[in-house]
Amino acid sequence: MYVIGRKQESDSHRRANLKYKRNNREKLRLKDKEYRERIKLKVYNHYTHNDIKCKICGFKEIHALSIDHINNNGAYMRKNKIHGLGRDFYVWIIKNNYPDDLQVLCMNCQFIKRSVA
Ligand SMILES: [Zn+2]
Repeated sequence: MYVIGRKQESDSHRRANLKYKRNNREKLRLKDKEYRERIKLKVYNHYTHNDIKCKICGFKEIHALSIDHINNNGAYMRKNKIHGLGRDFYVWIIKNNYPDDLQVLCMNCQFIKRSVA
């Protein structure tokens, strides 16, 4: 009887949760986006000493900046599931205490770096 009681409770709880998610999809999406932006800023600020810009050319538009592997081993790291992409990557960086073989570069400089490597 207690088990059924708990089960009913957890079922209704689960349903309420689903309903909340359904009714607040936009709100949750924004919350997720905010979280992503926050940890991204945290990581960028770390590598740029709170002056977010490309390490090579100084370009400041954050949407054109990304984390670059100094040793060009990004593909290796992703392929071997050492870290993921996007938010997972930022979380990984923080958890790993900001590895020092990373830097912030703009897309132009990354492309140039890759083509001369
Ligand atoms: Zn640059």
